[in-house]
Amino acid sequence: MKKENIAPFFATLQAANPEPETELEYSTPFELLAAVLLSAQATDVGVNKATRKLYPVANTPQAILDLGLEGLEGYIKTIGLYRSKARHLMEACRMLVEQHGGEVPRTRAELEALPGVGRKTANVVLNVAFGEPTMAVDTHIFRVSNRTGLAPGKTPLEVELKLVKHVPPEYRLHAHHWLILHGRYVCVARKPLCWKCAVAPYCDYKPKTPAP
Ligand code: SF4
Repeated sequence: MKKENIAPFFATLQAANPEPETELEYSTPFELLAAVLLSAQATDVGVNKATRKLYPVANTPQAILDLGLEGLEGYIKTIGLYRSKARHLMEACRMLVEQHGGEVPRTRAELEALPGVGRKTANVVLNVAFGEPTMAVDTHIFRVSNRTGLAPGKTPLEVELKLVKHVPPEYRLHAHHWLILHGRYVCVARKPLCWKCAVAPYCDYKPKTPAP
């Protein structure tokens, strides 16, 4: 993507959705962290269904520990890979209680030290809970960044570092949400809906998908 197209690309996405939000439901940094941890290879809708029952009963690290592993599994067993996710979440809760006073830490290193928390999860928490301009590259962002030429890269990390470098500062806070939503609903995996895409004039992808 030409450098001069990057700002209008994001201005267009911003105009359509000025305050984008994660589709995961949460009300505290810990609820967000737990929801992101549960969301790997699962849909946000499925995670929300489970956390709507879990969080009124247990929404702090100590309360999750008090549920016990089996108790926690009972709430999340509709989510894929729930056994390993339950184990990771329990271990993460133990570390949060023992090392962080039951609070979610605010640095990447401390977040990534938690079981089940990788770079992407840390990026989501830093961005959504703490307002850091991080780029959590998921499958949608990876695809959109490559297809459009915005931040081409062979690995999620390569794409992330290019986004951090090339996205204009005023769009950095919300960039990853705009890209996720754009990838989820317009620049979809199998055949992008280019004919109704607002950012088509700035995108390198060729040939553009014509209207059906
Ligand atoms: S024009 Fe097509 S390929 Fe480019 S961003 Fe839009 S939907 Fe994606």
